[in-house]
Amino acid sequence: MSKLIYLDNAATTKTAPEVVEAMLPFFTEYYGNPSSVYSFASKSKEAVTRQREIIAGALGAKANEIYFTAGGTESDNWAIKAAAEAYESKGKHIITSKIEHHAVLHTCEYLEHRGFEVTYLNVDENGVVDLEELKQAIRPDTILISIMFANNEIGTMEPVREIGEIAKEHGILFHTDAVQAFGQIPIQVDELHIDMLSASGHKLNGPKGIGFLYIRKGLRLKNFVHGGAQERKRRAGTENVPGIVGLGTAVARAIRTMEERTKLEKEIRDYLIDRVLKEIPYTKLNGHPTDRLPNNANFSFRFIEGEAMLLSLDMAGICGSSGSACTSGSLDPSHVLLAIGLPHEIAHGSLRLTLNEEITKEDIDYVVEHLKEIISNLRAMSPLYEDFIKKQTK
Ligand code: PLP
Repeated sequence: MSKLIYLDNAATTKTAPEVVEAMLPFFTEYYGNPSSVYSFASKSKEAVTRQREIIAGALGAKANEIYFTAGGTESDNWAIKAAAEAYESKGKHIITSKIEHHAVLHTCEYLEHRGFEVTYLNVDENGVVDLEELKQAIRPDTILISIMFANNEIGTMEPVREIGEIAKEHGILFHTDAVQAFGQIPIQVDELHIDMLSASGHKLNGPKGIGFLYIRKGLRLKNFVHGGAQERKRRAGTENVPGIVGLGTAVARAIRTMEERTKLEKEIRDYLIDRVLKEIPYTKLNGHPTDRLPNNANFSFRFIEGEAMLLSLDMAGICGSSGSACTSGSLDPSHVLLAIGLPHEIAHGSLRLTLNEEITKEDIDYVVEHLKEIISNLRAMSPLYEDFIKKQTK
């Protein structure tokens, strides 16, 4: 295969070999339905129980507070819709932020069409939610606060501990989308006063199409999928046993390797950030300078069109992602980059590079050298850049 430097680990990750190995027997050997009574099925039932315990252990939760889902999107939908429905007699107001993933934002918009009111909190120029604004937004009819643990585009970590405390003080449920943070940052749900937490397998070297929702015991949430008695009757459907085994194995691996892996990633990430900011003029780092995911770097290059940059990087075997949403058929820049105050034209020239522990300094050198050349070539074709340089030299 020709050169591949995969720097899009926020989009998805490679399934770890130990995860694949753990999953395989559950396709062909232990394929029994966990709900069946005969002893042949007990292997799959035991495996599901074991994975629930592993995941609960990672969060300081109880096994019966973990519900398997088909991924982060489903977990976000379930948490927000079910909380809204369960607590609507108390009130119909929800607080979230402007930089949430669409799995949260579009769910909130859906609820707005059903008579709920949603406050979308602003963030500062680093992407951090303002705690004073949050306190001001709370009303007697507020039933839910949903704020992400860390942002998927710019990597900024939100003040989750403080948000949890505020929610608890006011007797409001707190949901956090931890799809990007879980496996990268230690999370203990009790310490942080988290009532519901979404996570996804494919972001932490597990398989796609599997995730979980943590629901604090005692919450009167409605069932999400109706049917059989699986997941304590709250999310019906025969369990995705190989997926669940993959998820549990990936979580155990992520927890086991977290300290060393994230230390390595931070070092390489900072090397990347340092080189790009020093060597490519008219460049800005997006997201919090320090409180950011260990593997995330997000830049804006002035006078650059993101899609052209991505295509050129692709020709050099480098996978990254841009801040614009062209793939969704719209040319609007990302809502996250606009929310941190970037003008449209600068948001359009953004690049997210998200690392894994296999990326080396030599890989980064290769990326930076190509990036310098690509940016310089694209700027040479830009009339805006030409004007800018003329004005500078006058
Ligand atoms: N939430 C965040 C913050 C994400 O980054 C993603 C995926 O990119 C999701 C939710 C959706 O997760 P999934 O792909 O498992 O549905």
